[in-house]
Amino acid sequence: MKIAVVPGDGIGKEVMPAALSVLDAFGLGIEKVNLEIGYGKWERTGSAIMDDDIALIRECDCVLFGAITTPPDPNYKSVLVRLRKELDLYANIRPFKPLKNVNLPCSGNFDFIIVRENTEGMYSGVEELHEDAAYTTRIVTRKGSERIAERACSLAKKRKGHMTIVHKANVLKSDSFFRDVCTGVAKKNNVSFNEMLVDAMAYDMILHPGKYDVLLTTNLFGDILSDEAAAIAGGLGLCPSANIGDKYALFEPIHGSAPDIAGKGIANPIAAILSVKMMLEWAGKTEEAMSIDKAVDSVLTKHFTTPDLGGGYSTQDVGEAIARLV
Ligand code: NAD
Repeated sequence: MKIAVVPGDGIGKEVMPAALSVLDAFGLGIEKVNLEIGYGKWERTGSAIMDDDIALIRECDCVLFGAITTPPDPNYKSVLVRLRKELDLYANIRPFKPLKNVNLPCSGNFDFIIVRENTEGMYSGVEELHEDAAYTTRIVTRKGSERIAERACSLAKKRKGHMTIVHKANVLKSDSFFRDVCTGVAKKNNVSFNEMLVDAMAYDMILHPGKYDVLLTTNLFGDILSDEAAAIAGGLGLCPSANIGDKYALFEPIHGSAPDIAGKGIANPIAAILSVKMMLEWAGKTEEAMSIDKAVDSVLTKHFTTPDLGGGYSTQDVGEAIARLV
């Protein structure tokens, strides 16, 4: 197996070594191609990602990604959006469940997955910036909606056979289209479903997270709801994700480069380490994936944590402790 390793910016550079120490502990002989991509590279060279980087990534089986800074500058194009589109990583899979000893802001047991369409919607990249107005075109296609709905159905079938389709079809024609395509795919697959308007979903997710299992939604709504879900699950430092296409995949924590804590060595590496777990699961290395889960449980049980969870250990300390236990 050959993987592209992209630490990125800020805490991406700190959580990646911790994640790699866990991966290396298995001695799987995985070949790594290290790539510099992100805002730091843009500042240094004027280009955040080059065509050569994409070509090297295409030669790998998948990407392990840290986090990148994306400044709110209309001249700067998001690297991740480009990668997701160019590699056609259309399914963003984000699991959320409580981990051992993590204080949760809401009560109740829960275990749900957000399945976010990852290549179109508000992030289609069709935009115009004028003197007095700006336009962003929200593109929702039949192909894009069908394939993400199929992905959600196949996950639902492996779980409880039910999914929740989250949209704003009462206002947006593009979402009414998304809803119609997704309900059709659910019926074809014999997957039961209910529907939630995204605003009501944001509210009910906090009150009753245990009601949900597979949530299927569009790009921007999935982006926002997953940060909310991370808060419910105890913090951004705990939540991994997989960006999956038919040919390639990219695994990354859902958090960003966290400039407020970058350089202090205190970022929680668990989200990045659980992203390694998702990568190993995707590669069919189920035993190794399970052992990461157990090792994470074990360090949390011992309260061996970074400051976001109340502990006093560093990113590296926690990474090494998990690596020793796998
Ligand atoms: P963020 O996710 O970087 O941070 C939000 C908050 O969560 C911060 O207070 C941060 O300290 C905390 N946090 C995040 N990860 C943590 C961890 N591992 N351990 C402990 N605390 C953690 O979001 P932001 O501050 O809005 O964005 C910072 C930059 O990251 C922006 O440039 C944004 O565009 C970018 N971003 C990138 C990604 C990505 O690479 N996938 C995702 C989101 C944001």
